[in-house]
Amino acid sequence: IKRLDETVVNRIAAGEVIQRPANAVKEMIENCLDAGSTCITVSLKSGGLKLLQISDNGHGIRKEDMEIVCERFTTSKLKEFDDLKSIATFGFRGEALASISHVAHLTITTRTKDSKCAYKASYLDSEFIHRVYCKLKGAVRPTAGNIGTQITVEDLFYNVPTRRKAFKSASEEHQKIADVMTRYALHNSGKSFTLRKMDQDVSAGVSVRTQLGSTHVTNIGTLFGSNVGKEVIQVDHFDPQLHLKVGSCQSTTYASFVTFTINGYVTNANCSIKRFLFLLFINNRLVECTVLKKALDSLYQTYLPKGGHPFVYLSLEMPANNLDVNVHPTKHEVHFLHEGTVVESVEKQVEAALLSCDSSRTFYMQK
Ligand code: ADP
Ligand code: MG
Repeated sequence: IKRLDETVVNRIAAGEVIQRPANAVKEMIENCLDAGSTCITVSLKSGGLKLLQISDNGHGIRKEDMEIVCERFTTSKLKEFDDLKSIATFGFRGEALASISHVAHLTITTRTKDSKCAYKASYLDSEFIHRVYCKLKGAVRPTAGNIGTQITVEDLFYNVPTRRKAFKSASEEHQKIADVMTRYALHNSGKSFTLRKMDQDVSAGVSVRTQLGSTHVTNIGTLFGSNVGKEVIQVDHFDPQLHLKVGSCQSTTYASFVTFTINGYVTNANCSIKRFLFLLFINNRLVECTVLKKALDSLYQTYLPKGGHPFVYLSLEMPANNLDVNVHPTKHEVHFLHEGTVVESVEKQVEAALLSCDSSRTFYMQK
């Protein structure tokens, strides 16, 4: 048995967090939001495999921090394990930038409000250097720049040839990034998001754009088409005491209560689309929940023509201690307590919204 070389360990770990360009974009968008940004722009070449650049107007990174920002487990957001219980930022593991820098060429240009100029630094995969605790390529140099941060990622997976080869189509990767951006843009309505395709061909241009100060409804129209935007109804429910059943099936005791809110927009029964568009955020994190997705799709089957599906955007808030976000490095999957009760409650609210949206409309009921 031999201990693995640190470079190998890092590259393996990086592959878990960053599986494709869209994961890198998600991590970096979350960093921009954590930094309080209101304008986020992503530019791509070859679906992010050649170039992936993200600029924000957030609080920036201090010059002193630039040396360690790309090392594993360096973060400004978590200090102790117990902080995880009440974590309010997206990040906490300090792994994203480190991971990206292990599998790509990364450059950061950043400026805080207290700094007279911006600073720029490039980072290397530690393979090329001998000192373990230094990933910096050259010095941190002063440069011109606005307050905020710009991160440039070039040649993703250049040192992981098998992964690199697995990407067949740049446009598929672009689409996956556009999908992530679209979801964050809608959830963070009011902030501006722009996705730009920089390839030198006819498809170049802006593929996602939302404006500063725009509303959810406007953005649903912009991002998902006016046919969807016209037919959405609001779900807005606050449950100060969601009753959680605790105990065995014979003797149900209501022993636990949590504050639980459901917000969002769903299409009414007049709108039917080919594919179920389901956007779910729990405590502002973009997550997947198959149980809830299935429940909602089957709920709509009663109201929509055969083969038709809805658009559903939901944002749930529950106490952070009901949620386990630390299931996987991608933080994509979350586990929450009392899943059954939560799903039931969401179903009920969506159905109530559907029924109340316009009583004069006659619903198409499937026989
Ligand atoms: P985490 O988000 O888990 O802390 P990351 O590797 O994503 O870890 O980022 C490391 C640190 O770099 C963050 O804690 C933050 O201090 C800083 N950082 C990264 N991106 C930005 C950004 N866009 N604006 C300001 N600071 C940033
Ligand atoms: Mg992060």
